[in-house]
Amino acid sequence: MSEVFPEQRVEASPGSLGAYTTLRLGGPAGALTVATEPGEAVTTVRNAAAAGEPVLILAGGSNVVIGDAGFAGRVVLLRTRGIREIARDATFVTLRVAAGEVWDDFVARTVAEGLSGVECLSGIPGSAGATPIQNVGAYGQEVGHTIVAVHAYDREADAMVTMTAAECGFGYRASVFKYSDRWLVLEVDFRLARSTESEPIRYAELARQLGVEAGDRVPLERARETVLKLRAGKGMVLDPDDRDTWSVGSFFTNPVVGELPEPDMPHWPAAGGRVKIPAAWLIEHAGFSKGFGVSEGVRISSKHTLALTNRGSGTTTELLELARVIRAGVRDRFGIELHPEPVLVGCQV
Ligand SMILES: Cc1cc2nc3c(=O)[nH]c(=O)nc-3n(C[C@H](O)[C@H](O)[C@H](O)COP(=O)(O)OP(=O)(O)OC[C@H]3O[C@@H](n4cnc5c(N)ncnc54)[C@H](O)[C@@H]3O)c2cc1C
Repeated sequence: MSEVFPEQRVEASPGSLGAYTTLRLGGPAGALTVATEPGEAVTTVRNAAAAGEPVLILAGGSNVVIGDAGFAGRVVLLRTRGIREIARDATFVTLRVAAGEVWDDFVARTVAEGLSGVECLSGIPGSAGATPIQNVGAYGQEVGHTIVAVHAYDREADAMVTMTAAECGFGYRASVFKYSDRWLVLEVDFRLARSTESEPIRYAELARQLGVEAGDRVPLERARETVLKLRAGKGMVLDPDDRDTWSVGSFFTNPVVGELPEPDMPHWPAAGGRVKIPAAWLIEHAGFSKGFGVSEGVRISSKHTLALTNRGSGTTTELLELARVIRAGVRDRFGIELHPEPVLVGCQV
């Protein structure tokens, strides 16, 4: 299995939540429960609520920045497993996936079984249950296109709920779940096409690398391999020996604006006639290059301008200081505000 759920890494200090995050940053937890069954996760969350204890759900720890002071409450580490087929017709198969399943293992399985719809999301760290949280996306695909239902425990209503894709409110790196403590996602239903060919390739860089036109299809395995290769070149596949991957992936989302501040900027069309600008381009053109840092412990990745990385001795305080410097530089140069993509716990930019 891929190194996606790091458990108590030797270099993390004892009791530090950094042992469970891909940044390897974050102070101690008040208490920690490892939940291997959905019922266990629900009971833990329910009991904590009754006791007035704050709860943090953590799975792969690849999209959280936890403060150096840690989390003064109960961390529930989701480690539930299981994938089962719940529907099949001539064209589609629907798979119900436990929240704690390793996302990329699931993608690999769909590719091996000739199911198309998530192949371009190969190599993304973390759990299947976290993918609806920010509508995980890459290389022209988003999970919001294949998710048909999310099964969750509604902490406010103290009830189990099934939410349709429309109820999930998927947007660009967004959903009703992001920045909300209300739901504990337990299972996710993905409806995938029965095809050994990929979905039409939408992302120009991927089409170029595959040597095809945008809109063409390629064998699933080829799409997966090519995405993994592209991602590895940018430090976007976890590798414990490569500190360029000790990150949360992209630290900032690509800003969506009504009007370009300068006409020659690269951009893509976004919803509502707006345009999306690559944050990496803004950061580079504001004067921050790969490898830039304001301290030794945390630097921009040497492979990708959007990834802020722990070089080994970093702290969350240093990470956030670097993020602030970059954000101010982009604001001063372009008048555009960058927003962090990960969920910040006990800290802020
Ligand atoms: C190298 C690298 C590359 C990345 N590339 C991409 C990319 O291409 N595209 C992309 O979209 N993201 C990317 N990410 C971000 C991250 O991998 C995804 O957001 C992933 O889905 C997070 O999963 P996780 O299990 O690690 O979530 P965690 O980090 O454990 O949690 C993230 C948030 O979701 C909440 N959460 C997690 N599971 C549940 C649950 N079951 N129920 C309720 N809340 C939950 C947590 O409380 C937290 O707020 C990348 C990260 C890294 C480190």
